[in-house]
Amino acid sequence: MKTIGVIGGMSWESSTEYYRLLNRYAKARLGGHHNARSLMLTVDFADIEAGQRAGAWDRLGEQMADAARRLERGGADLVLLATNTMHRVYESIEAAIGVPFLHIADPTGEALRAAGIERVGLLGTRYTMEQTFYAGRLRERFGLDTLVPDDGGRRDVHRIIYEELCHGVTDAQSRGIYQRAIDDMAARGAQAVILGCTEITLLIKQDDTALPVFDTTALHAQAAVDWAIQTR
Ligand code: GLU
Repeated sequence: MKTIGVIGGMSWESSTEYYRLLNRYAKARLGGHHNARSLMLTVDFADIEAGQRAGAWDRLGEQMADAARRLERGGADLVLLATNTMHRVYESIEAAIGVPFLHIADPTGEALRAAGIERVGLLGTRYTMEQTFYAGRLRERFGLDTLVPDDGGRRDVHRIIYEELCHGVTDAQSRGIYQRAIDDMAARGAQAVILGCTEITLLIKQDDTALPVFDTTALHAQAAVDWAIQTR
């Protein structure tokens, strides 16, 4: 089995989920006492979050590249970035390492296409919902049409990520806000919803909505394990 390197800490609430899922999928695939061979480098999210607000994407790209290099030096055969938002700077990571980088939107796009989805709602941070780096990749590589909540909906979804989910808080009222945002996108033609922020899985499960849910945390972790087991 190959070794999976994870750039984590954005936030650590979702990194723990990655750690759990990587090991759970490896065990499901291989049985017995198998787990995923992995290493995680945790960055300080206070610094990253401040950089996002300041729009300091070049600096953030350098920090992500540095983290990826350290993982490669530590023995990672594959690098994962355990946040959707920071894929804004994925090119800096790819340029810094000699091992493959698994982009979070790719297993998600593949799963959506396999399910026959053409129009999908996207929930995530404002950066992910409003900038082109995420929806653009889904369109270019997978032909997917993406919808996002209206302005008020995007503000609430973003706020709940940073003020609650990244601090491990899951609140019933906030779940209702997400459910309304999903219903609204369904009414506008979304056939499924992407949980396009790695903490949303802590708040929204498939049972919380009638729309098929595509959870980027789970899809990313699963694709990494499949790669680590299959690659020789
Ligand atoms: N984990 C989140 C994401 O997947 C947001 C935290 C961050 O800004 O990286 O986008």
